[in-house]
Amino acid sequence: MAEAVLTAISPTAAANPYITAQRQFDQAASILNLDPGMRQVLREVRRELTVNFPVRMDDGSIRIFTGYRVQHNLTRGPAKGGIRYHPDVSLDEVKALSMWMSWKCAVTNLPYGGAKGGVICDPGQLSQHELENLTRRFASEISILIGPESDIPAPDVNTNQQTMAWIMDTISMEKGYSVPATVTGKPLSIGGSEGRPAATGRGVMVVTLEACRRMGIDPEQSTVAIQGFGNVGSVSAELLREQGFKIVAVSDVFGGIHNPAGLDVPALLEYARSNGRVTGFPGATDEINNSSLLELPVTVLIPAALENQLTITNAAQVQAQVIVEAANGPTTPEADDVFHQRGVILIPDILANAGGVTVSYFEWVQDLQSFFWEETEINGRLTRIMQRAYDQVEGLAREHSTTLRMGAYCLAVKRVADATSVRGIYP
Ligand code: NAD
Repeated sequence: MAEAVLTAISPTAAANPYITAQRQFDQAASILNLDPGMRQVLREVRRELTVNFPVRMDDGSIRIFTGYRVQHNLTRGPAKGGIRYHPDVSLDEVKALSMWMSWKCAVTNLPYGGAKGGVICDPGQLSQHELENLTRRFASEISILIGPESDIPAPDVNTNQQTMAWIMDTISMEKGYSVPATVTGKPLSIGGSEGRPAATGRGVMVVTLEACRRMGIDPEQSTVAIQGFGNVGSVSAELLREQGFKIVAVSDVFGGIHNPAGLDVPALLEYARSNGRVTGFPGATDEINNSSLLELPVTVLIPAALENQLTITNAAQVQAQVIVEAANGPTTPEADDVFHQRGVILIPDILANAGGVTVSYFEWVQDLQSFFWEETEINGRLTRIMQRAYDQVEGLAREHSTTLRMGAYCLAVKRVADATSVRGIYP
């Protein structure tokens, strides 16, 4: 991944994701009329760990990297949340992502609290060997927090099954025995779960279908634009295509491609796998940049890259009828207001991308029991959990005459607040 490209199309620097997360929480706390003490507890993260650690590079030199592991809430169970490698990682970003994880686990009613981790680095500039060194040392540094009973990492931006395998192995070597349940999103050969790599995209597909069904939109007549073609974006594209949607535009960090007649998604997946990017795909009619993709006249827009992509600057130009937040935090509160006023239906991140953590939960349960399930069972359970969550979120949104985001927050914050209240304050 070239650094110059990253800088050129990096999200607007203005919005601090943690301030966004706190503003969203405050709005829900007001709707719920939450007790002031409870508000103070839930609007802050519980633990934040910063580590500065050395990594030996291929040329023999030593470089210091900075990483974070943050736990927002542990009331409903162990903390759960991914690990991200990106040059723009910051403590505030990781804090925001950890808070969103708490709400996401509560929306789907998984017995987890929220956490997140990240390392400031550009993985595109590191060799596989350097990435392994970095991952193992970072895992060791945060081992004071992570483990099957306390905090379970998973993949996020620029991390994958291999990263999870290195973390699992590092923790296991330190313990002296295999601890598969210490991370999820692992390869199948070491206790990973069927269906986990596709789970977030599958959840995105399920909630998109739910929204369309409720709005009377026919998938066969619908077009989709997807920003970000990594794990989540690419799987969402393929699964939505299988449901009859026409995928007309996709992008990645290098730029985007467009074909109003619909892209050949299987061929595009193959092209992106061998070329490491979507631009240059022969089946596109034109190339577009990441910002114009967001403004295309499509039925469904799916941001599946990073935070702060839909802002006050472009919200009025977005033409989609439905926005499905596959990424975490892609919409600022100001843009949310614009979409609400314009009647655009937005399925919030804490619901839309909860499929990943749901199947991570299945993986953890399978690891703890050393008893593994078939993919059809996993996909069936995932679909039911996503549909139930959608139903409950929509019901609360209607009850409080508010957005689906606030419906999801009301469901989640109330669950965490009730658990906190019944447990009481220690000592
Ligand atoms: P990934 O690393 O597999 O893919 C990220 C994609 O975004 C890549 O195509 C990359 O090129 C693109 N990208 C990066 N920077 C960009 C930029 N500035 N502009 C446009 N595109 C850019 O990551 P992922 O796992 O697919 O995660 C994507 C989003 O989904 C993140 O917000 C992540 O937090 C969220 N998410 C992921 C999971 C999961 O299971 N992996 C679960 C829930 C939420």
